Amino acid sequence: MKSVELKVYGVVQGVGFRPYVSKLANSLSIGGWVKNTSECVEIRLIGEEKEINAFISNLKLSPPPLSRVVKIEKVREENYEGEKPSFIILKSEKKANSARDNLWIPPDVGTCDDCLKEIFNDKDRRYRYPFTNCTNCGPRFTIILDLPYDREKTTMKIFKMCERCEKEYNDINDRRFHAQPNACPECGPELRLLDNRGNKIDGDPIEKTIKLLKEGKIVAIKGIGGFHLAVDALNERAINELRRRKNRPHKPFALMAFNIDRISQFAKVNQGERELLLSPIRPIVLLRKRESSNLPENIAPNNKYVGFMLPYTPLHYLITEPFQALVMTSGNLSDEPIIYENEQALLKLKNIADFFLIHNREIYTPCDDSIVINGMVTRRARGYTPLPLVGEEEFPEILACGGEEKSSFALSRKNTIILSQYIGDLKDLETLERYELLIERFKSLFSLNPRHVVCDLHPLYLSTRYAEATGLPILKVQHHHAHMTSCMWENGISDKVIGIVLDGTGYGIDETIWGGEIFIGDYLEFKRVAHLRPIPLPGGEKAIREPWRIALAYLREIGKEDLIIEEKAKEILRMLKLGINSPLSSGCGRLFDAVSAFLGIRKSISYEAQAAIELEGVANEDEKSAYPAELREEKGEIIIDWKRMWEELVKDVMRGTPVEICSMKFHNYIVNSISEAVEIIRGKTHIEKVVLSGGVFQNQIILHKTVESLTKRGLMVYHHKEVPTNDQGIAVGQLLICAEKIRKGAV
Ligand SMILES: [Zn+2]
Ligand SMILES: [Zn+2]
Ligand SMILES: [Zn+2]
Repeated sequence: MKSVELKVYGVVQGVGFRPYVSKLANSLSIGGWVKNTSECVEIRLIGEEKEINAFISNLKLSPPPLSRVVKIEKVREENYEGEKPSFIILKSEKKANSARDNLWIPPDVGTCDDCLKEIFNDKDRRYRYPFTNCTNCGPRFTIILDLPYDREKTTMKIFKMCERCEKEYNDINDRRFHAQPNACPECGPELRLLDNRGNKIDGDPIEKTIKLLKEGKIVAIKGIGGFHLAVDALNERAINELRRRKNRPHKPFALMAFNIDRISQFAKVNQGERELLLSPIRPIVLLRKRESSNLPENIAPNNKYVGFMLPYTPLHYLITEPFQALVMTSGNLSDEPIIYENEQALLKLKNIADFFLIHNREIYTPCDDSIVINGMVTRRARGYTPLPLVGEEEFPEILACGGEEKSSFALSRKNTIILSQYIGDLKDLETLERYELLIERFKSLFSLNPRHVVCDLHPLYLSTRYAEATGLPILKVQHHHAHMTSCMWENGISDKVIGIVLDGTGYGIDETIWGGEIFIGDYLEFKRVAHLRPIPLPGGEKAIREPWRIALAYLREIGKEDLIIEEKAKEILRMLKLGINSPLSSGCGRLFDAVSAFLGIRKSISYEAQAAIELEGVANEDEKSAYPAELREEKGEIIIDWKRMWEELVKDVMRGTPVEICSMKFHNYIVNSISEAVEIIRGKTHIEKVVLSGGVFQNQIILHKTVESLTKRGLMVYHHKEVPTNDQGIAVGQLLICAEKIRKGAV
């Protein structure tokens, strides 16, 4: 037999790591022990070499969902004689001088089954206590003030544990041993229900809140990372009222339901989705709506998907229990970041919420809910943040400032990238302030002091301005190059690839707007080898909000501009003719917008990408035919044209072809066009690996059809999973490009 000692570094404490290790050891008949120290988890393994190796590879490949192993160090290995001991969990050890850069911060953890049993057991002392938690669950990232993770360094420090809680906290055999946010009704945080003038409402806050929600009232509820606005999801009138007050006419609302059975009444849940919903991450999962459910249409209008999450705190369980489902949408004013402080909530949401269910456990770092669709994280926040993305090589010290839409930033630390939570569109002062606050917070929590800064090429992004103001050596990276590399890295690719990047807007190196791009390249460089034929956007930003203008621009190119009957059409045509304020764009999202507007699905939008999302929403996926793909070469680049596509589309509309069919034929046209372009590029370059990135790949039809089409042609196709395919992922790509250029001495 062998005896091996390991040190495991990373996010390995407060995330159920030791029970997992002990279970794994037992399943492989390995003896020994595991213990937490103040900087890592130490493990001693006694057993046969084969089993020990299996243990280590399991630890690397499938650690518990909320943990992240950054490094495994083998500190001792020797032969072992004698009887094999059983595997035990040892008392934690505080080391005098733990290196701070070995400390990591766990994400917030959804309520575990043991705690759930307690809050619904009327014999338990935590019966119906909304802040119940233990070593395996509860708030983490959002309450941590500083490291190491100790109660004194969390917002729980103001609550002195009662005798019984203290006893649990100090008992190594207790589930609450060293559970930093440990609390009970006697000593922990409390709820309060207020009206929208701040007056306290007497009675049991939870019972009262349930009653108010049943009456159709809007209640702002403080959770783990911020406030939600809640209404009964089956009360169409209350939902309309929330939409009116929030000035949010169409953007889908996320729902929370008590359990999977209730979710299944409204949406289809497959095995993978079920596991994700139930996982301690508890993200919002976008699910296919059931056609025959009684879900009001105004929850996610013109959308095939609806976002559901399970409760992730005891408070959520208690509130959702009497309902089929609740709308739980972020508590903010439109376009501003999520609100997380009691006073701010009362001030800013008083004209939206009728009542406020608040508590006195302070949220230190705000964090929205995460969103996942078909296993792809499209909004990375609570439950994921601040888990590091782990690579092989050490990075130079870099701050990557991200883009503008769905902004976030990234910092390197050792061999990892720490991507911030989704912050929001970086277009106003409120969001900029939140962005700056979070950059400072991440730097101090992780003790980072970046030596380089990297940002987007776009001269007007606030993130670019921020980067310039740091005074650090700066690198500016092309938007779609960043998208492409973020997808390469996530899939462990370092050689040259064909990168298909489809999104809305990104600043090109020729100073026009790009977004329908095929590159060949790697981390150091890229070459634009194919792109959509550009179109002028009459009115610039305005055209993005009013896609009928873009439809007009396209139709003008085929001499059918008279098909757009809008009051302002003449004026817009004059703008186009004279080229006034009509920047050129090859953005793929814009083509979706225009088709959607022309088909009468959405002529002007109230949230980002709405026209494109609703175009996907109506597509009849059984339709196999396509509008003709049209490629030609110009100055060594492949131009993906849309002229014949528009001509055929116009004919279809004239003969009364249903929009469901037109939409699908358009989707098929996009897939065929890029597939044919990639085929030509492969023929010339012999590159076989293709990465897919950019916001358009949130469109599930485009994603799955593209993967299918390219795979059939014998290419190896990679897409995003952990790093968002939309602009939240930009910061990761920027950081990678900057790191590679520093390593190669190119900056
Ligand atoms: Zn628990
Ligand atoms: Zn207590
Ligand atoms: Zn983008």
